[in-house]
Amino acid sequence: MTTPLFEPLHRDTLAVRTAVARSQYGENSEALFLTSGYVQPGAEAAARRFSGEEDGYTYGRYGNPTVSSFEQRLAALEGAQACISTASGMSAILMMCLGLLQAGDHVICSHSMFGSTIKLIGSDLAKFGVNSTFVPQTDAAAWKAAIQPNTKLLFAETPTNPLTDVCDIRALADIAHEAGALLAVDNCFATPALQRPMTLGADIVVHSGTKYLDGQGRVMAGALCASEELVSESFLPILKSGGMTLAPFNAWVVLKGLETLSIRMQAQSERALALAQWLQAHPAVAKVFYPGLASHPQHELAMTQQSNCGGAVLSFEVKSSDDEQARQRAFHVLDSLATLSLCTNLGDTKTLLAHPASTSHGRLTPAQRQLAGVSQGMIRVAVGLENINDIQADLDRGLTSF
Ligand SMILES: *Cc1c(COP(=O)(O)O)cnc(C)c1O
Repeated sequence: MTTPLFEPLHRDTLAVRTAVARSQYGENSEALFLTSGYVQPGAEAAARRFSGEEDGYTYGRYGNPTVSSFEQRLAALEGAQACISTASGMSAILMMCLGLLQAGDHVICSHSMFGSTIKLIGSDLAKFGVNSTFVPQTDAAAWKAAIQPNTKLLFAETPTNPLTDVCDIRALADIAHEAGALLAVDNCFATPALQRPMTLGADIVVHSGTKYLDGQGRVMAGALCASEELVSESFLPILKSGGMTLAPFNAWVVLKGLETLSIRMQAQSERALALAQWLQAHPAVAKVFYPGLASHPQHELAMTQQSNCGGAVLSFEVKSSDDEQARQRAFHVLDSLATLSLCTNLGDTKTLLAHPASTSHGRLTPAQRQLAGVSQGMIRVAVGLENINDIQADLDRGLTSF
């Protein structure tokens, strides 16, 4: 589960080279080990491996060489000591909470976190006595004011889904550490190709590998990057007893996805910026949310924090006179698509569009939805690799025929 030491190699090199050692066959592409158990060299060795005194694989729920390859590669890209992977992004967040929190503890998150994260932390964990406060994403003073003596974790996501609000990771890390708490950052949207939260003071990086790490919309995966100590002492025991293990095949897919992450993020972000500029000038569009636009409220922070890049996701609101018309118009744009996909996912090479208010944020109460800034006229676009002219033409079909 740990990252070996590397020569000072560039991240592009680590993205294609970091993995567990080749097998005796010398395969050039990383091997896919499909096995649930491991034959032990002897009873004494098995005992040592199970007790953790000796390295070695013991059982598929606890570890697998293909899974380790993915973990080592992602840790290298994030600049983390260690990484532990899970079956999905949400199970990574569950593992983090189970590993760090107990009844009576307090967590601070932003209002505009991923919908299922709000549900998990705000409702499901509350049943077990974990309290939470949700604050405005970009207001560092509000995060600070929400600190309580029992605050153990600050959990941010930047940029957020779907509004692309950007928070200052370093400022939140300072607030957390002053209070003796940890800062976790969900790095799903920017990925380590654009943003490395641990270099800005974050203690834990959360990933949905389902998104850009896979990059082609094939498998579910999740991961936590953190210190060796957090991974081995706080998270691994939860994996062993909770069993939210990443399947080896899925690990192999995201492992290979990491090889092209950087060039995909660059190419998809370029298209997203061009689309954001086009939408901003479109007469049927009321507002565009994209950190790469100078009109974005945290544009400058985003540019310094995200390698001068806005990322591949943007959202926009159609012009309308009321909520009912807004919803109808947003649905009309989505139902008019001929090339792009109406699909509640992101991080694919195919451009995916969604109506957050009725899908990803549909389980929230109207009040929670309003706090998250998710309106009925809002459409999220996760820009893929199609030609920009074809992306614009497909959106224009609906935008010009209300
Ligand atoms: C999708 C997503 C998750 C959850 O990941 P799954 O792999 O779907 O479980 C968490 N955070 C963000 C920002 C996401 O977009």
